[in-house]
Amino acid sequence: MTQTVLISGAGVAGPTLAYWLARNGFTPTIVERAAGQRSSGNPVDVRGPAFPVAEKMGLLPRLRAAATATTGLAFVDAQGRRKSRVDLSVNRAAEVEVPRADLAAIITDAVSGSAEIVYGDSISALSQDGSGVDVTFERGAPRRFDLVIGTDGQHSTVRRLVWGPETDFVTHRGLYVATLPVERELNPTTDVLLYGMPGRLASVHPVRGDGGIAALIWRGRPVPGYDHRDTAQHKRIVEQAYAGGGWLVPELIERVRDAGDLYFDTVSQVRLDTWSRGRIGLLGDAASSVSLFGEGSSLAMAGAYTLARTLAEHRDRPEQGLKAYEHEHRKLTAPRQNGFATAATLMVPATRFGVALRDNGARLVTGWQRLKAAVR
Ligand SMILES: Cc1cc2nc3c(=O)[nH]c(=O)nc-3n(C[C@H](O)[C@H](O)[C@H](O)COP(=O)(O)OP(=O)(O)OC[C@H]3O[C@@H](n4cnc5c(N)ncnc54)[C@H](O)[C@@H]3O)c2cc1C
Repeated sequence: MTQTVLISGAGVAGPTLAYWLARNGFTPTIVERAAGQRSSGNPVDVRGPAFPVAEKMGLLPRLRAAATATTGLAFVDAQGRRKSRVDLSVNRAAEVEVPRADLAAIITDAVSGSAEIVYGDSISALSQDGSGVDVTFERGAPRRFDLVIGTDGQHSTVRRLVWGPETDFVTHRGLYVATLPVERELNPTTDVLLYGMPGRLASVHPVRGDGGIAALIWRGRPVPGYDHRDTAQHKRIVEQAYAGGGWLVPELIERVRDAGDLYFDTVSQVRLDTWSRGRIGLLGDAASSVSLFGEGSSLAMAGAYTLARTLAEHRDRPEQGLKAYEHEHRKLTAPRQNGFATAATLMVPATRFGVALRDNGARLVTGWQRLKAAVR
């Protein structure tokens, strides 16, 4: 009978899975490569299928306390003058927007009493047989588990060890993203401020308290020699991409140079023919990263809930439980992966004409929202 489950990665998917596994009588252990919780990451929405999961976990009071109080999106020009605005103060009863770091921390807190969490280590080798998986770690002593689940993100180590090199499954979709915490003074308003140049977008998101989160999203070809763990290289790439930018861009580049916890990655999609091999499975970005615009955090939470349930339903045959989860959860991830190109064109237009069209389109959206509100 399946009892012990090793989860690689304490992002959003991993702790949610640990929580539901513990609730279903399993014994989860999480191993996280970072030394502790990370502080960077743009705000993300907990919505759709993730919302009832968060509700059942009792997380809503804490999520609402950490939620951003964003009232709109305001597009500004190089001098910071507002060009157009989309009102977001619509009814948000069944969703909550929180900084990604707060979401991960709140879920991890919820599971801390019922799962062992090991920080600062990583799986280095996996070997499975019919009854379990032998796991070797970079630092800790080897251990054996009934099941191993990779929730270690877009650059998953579990996927590399079991399925093969990242290049076989991860497709760069022509965009990069960098996010970092900044001071509230950079955007004292309650709107997300966005400044677009052809192929480049800079934004500052207000969050509660004295903080803000800056996000830089730009179009760029794959960089030769790109290393997803080389922060010095990431900082150089951002500086080159945003050279000559107006608005707050020079200040943001300075913050990037000094940043202690810069999140930087290619915007990529992960596609695999199968999310499990025997007693080893994948969940969240490791299995099906939908990229920036596809609500990866909500899908990760929903998938974790489904996986814990199907494993409990197939307690004696975990391979079946993994297959049942994949069958069910792919129905949610597949449509999200297909909507990427339109979202990217709207968010980061490649040309000046596209930027103008997007910014004027924003006015139309606001007009339409006002009309709908008036009708209601
Ligand atoms: C610090 C951070 C900031 C992010 N910011 C953004 C953002 O601004 N915009 C955006 O669209 N997406 C962002 N993401 C990705 C976003 O969180 C995911 O798309 C989504 O939440 C799905 O969650 P996940 O749990 O599958 O993956 P993630 O949230 O990426 O979590 C994966 C976890 O696995 C850990 N890990 C990686 N390798 C190993 C290993 N070998 N062993 C153990 N642990 C490992 C990572 O440190 C991380 O904690 C960010 C991710 C991180 C880690």
